[in-house]
Amino acid sequence: MNIILLGPPGAGKGTQAQRLVAALGMVQLSTGDMLRAAVKAGTPVGLKAKAVMDAGELVSDEIVSGIIGEALDQLAPDVGVIFDGYPRTAAQAESLDALLGARNRQLDHVIELAVDEDALVDRITGRFTCASCGEGYHDRYKTPKVEGVCDRCGSTEFKRRPDDNEETVRTRMAEYRAKTAPILPIYEERNIVSRVDGMADIDEVSNAIVTILDR
Ligand code: ADP
Ligand code: ADP
Ligand code: ZN
Repeated sequence: MNIILLGPPGAGKGTQAQRLVAALGMVQLSTGDMLRAAVKAGTPVGLKAKAVMDAGELVSDEIVSGIIGEALDQLAPDVGVIFDGYPRTAAQAESLDALLGARNRQLDHVIELAVDEDALVDRITGRFTCASCGEGYHDRYKTPKVEGVCDRCGSTEFKRRPDDNEETVRTRMAEYRAKTAPILPIYEERNIVSRVDGMADIDEVSNAIVTILDR
């Protein structure tokens, strides 16, 4: 099974992807995570992407589709993939079709996480992750069970993203509205889009997604 989680920054794509990985053994391909790893490692892709990401704009279609192709080639053919944060433009949607087709994969579901824009700034400015395992948290909506200790791996180191500030979030939301939301009709035509209420509790959102995947 191959699915896309689609939604604006802060909609809960990463949170839900991590849960599907844990529950169903699927693999999460997050272009954001892969780009941040490239920036950290100082690779040529990372050097090109850094300023664009800091500004909240979109990295080029060639770069992100290249990363996704390479990532797909690392996977066993039968493992299910969750695309998190990709595709974000019509050109990327087209590339994804080609990348999947060349590997005998098909897209089964596009899950749209519908959220109030007003809630997104709050979600994003309160977001932090475990520096060791990447588990996602929020200052108010998802705090570690023991303060300062990661639930999943026990690490006491956490980090925040440099682009998770209000100004950049506004740019990212505008990019989503202008370039990403318009790709939904491509998938609606294929009857593979399901809309989930992303404002519900994290557990409820997970249950709704699993129900869709079980159908
Ligand atoms: P969020 O989870 O908040 O939506 P991501 O981690 O997915 O953010 O992306 C962070 C940044 O990485 C984006 O603002 C953009 O600069 C870049 N990026 C990630 N995925 C893509 C993509 N598919 N196309 C272009 N740029 C991307
Ligand atoms: P995205 O990957 O779409 O940018 P995240 O999954 O990183 O979004 O979620 C953004 C922030 O909101 C995180 O701090 C996360 O813990 C929190 N969050 C995610 N889903 C929910 C939810 N349903 N209710 C409240 N907070 C949530
Ligand atoms: Zn951890």
